[in-house]
Amino acid sequence: MRYILLNPGPVSLSEGVRRAAVATDLCHREPEYFDLQDRVVQGLGSLYATSAPDWRPVLLSGSGTSALEAMVASLVPREGRLLVLENGVYGERLSRLAGIHGIEHDAIAHDWVAGWDLERVKEALDGGGYSHVAAVHHETTTGRLNPVADLASLCAANGAALLLDAVSSFGAEALPFDAPALVACAATANKCLHGIPGACLVMLRESALKDTVEPPRSLTLDLGLWAEHQSRRSTPFTPPVNSLLALDRAVEELLESGGWRVRRARYQRLAAAVARTLDELGVQPYIDPAESSCVLRSYSLPRGRDYASIHQALKRHGFVVYAGQGDLSAKMFRVSTMGDISDYDLARLLAALSDVFG
Ligand SMILES: *Cc1c(COP(=O)(O)O)cnc(C)c1O
Repeated sequence: MRYILLNPGPVSLSEGVRRAAVATDLCHREPEYFDLQDRVVQGLGSLYATSAPDWRPVLLSGSGTSALEAMVASLVPREGRLLVLENGVYGERLSRLAGIHGIEHDAIAHDWVAGWDLERVKEALDGGGYSHVAAVHHETTTGRLNPVADLASLCAANGAALLLDAVSSFGAEALPFDAPALVACAATANKCLHGIPGACLVMLRESALKDTVEPPRSLTLDLGLWAEHQSRRSTPFTPPVNSLLALDRAVEELLESGGWRVRRARYQRLAAAVARTLDELGVQPYIDPAESSCVLRSYSLPRGRDYASIHQALKRHGFVVYAGQGDLSAKMFRVSTMGDISDYDLARLLAALSDVFG
């Protein structure tokens, strides 16, 4: 049975991407591989027009968390100090990464359902001597889209460089590449870009490239090393060749279909249709839809219904939804409408929701 994935990555693939992933065997020391690598870098760099020419996509192996770890470990210097904003699992993961790499850091912790308290952030930055701030753009824990442009302004006023987890927003939401404080955005192949798992990337400001931490804290996650090899048509380790074959096609499809704004509009339509149907069935959003991303929405579990039974019932219809994390698992569930979801899939999904919740 083919399932439509409504979890926040990996996503349902287009036929073109699925085929591209296994279309050919490629040695990563041959010119054909470097042509592919160059093409993917070029495509990713052109997605956000504002990102050229000061920005460079740096590809590496691993999941979204690898991109986060490479970003934090490669860019916050040993004498640096990091402020992390937390309002969900992924913000807390940034703190954990800083701790693992021995980076001096403080966190501004919020409740997982809360938006950022920018007054608190401003106070911390005013008093703090932070060299860097790390934060999550789309906090996938709840579907909240955090106000990163406002945060970038606060960082600029305090001379702090901003590192963003854009793992579940890059390719479908606006990103403040023009904000001087923003120096890096971590992203992955298999979320809004509609590729397969294996490759991830950090969009890196050229000026940050010369400041990567030396000696590095990690060999396989050293952004400077990946970037240096990439710039001279090389690769330090066996790269995720098949993931790049798929990503090449996925980025081409994204650009051909009109780019990230068109993808955002598509996601918004899908999310609104699901929200409308669920509303008619008495299922309410868990956080304000106006504060939610286009990518994923969280919904309160209806009284008397447990997540496992809802998940199983929808899976029988061919749809995979996603549980809440931690304490939220008893309160809410999540529906992501990323991926290659057709109008026909949507119509079937709305019918399935009516069947399961009606
Ligand atoms: C999915 C996700 C991650 C982690 O990505 P993995 O591929 O699971 O390592 C990090 N941050 C955010 C915001 C995500 O949505």
